[in-house]
Amino acid sequence: MDEHLAATLTTAVHERVDYLDHLAADEPSRAALAETEITRLTSAWRVLLELHAPDGHGRCPHCSTWRRPRRPCTVWTTAHQHLNCADGSPAHRAGRHASAAGRSTVAVLGAS
Ligand SMILES: [Zn+2]
Repeated sequence: MDEHLAATLTTAVHERVDYLDHLAADEPSRAALAETEITRLTSAWRVLLELHAPDGHGRCPHCSTWRRPRRPCTVWTTAHQHLNCADGSPAHRAGRHASAAGRSTVAVLGAS
């Protein structure tokens, strides 16, 4: 992707997110948002999560590198923080016993 296209896409996406935030703050607009935008946002999340789906070893093909093969996938950790944690704050540091402690297995994907 060239620099100009990247800048255009970045600006367009930021403007859209700002617009949705603006609508979400407007009480009468919320029902319309729920009908249209939630499906679009969940579809976008599904595409991102599929692109970052862990391989047979639990590693993300995009976020794991030969230098850091066990690096957690930033897309999955961000999704978990914002979709599963009520306040969107960073989840507890995932450990190898995270699922045994009752946390989602998503939190342990790619964790060392
Ligand atoms: Zn990833």
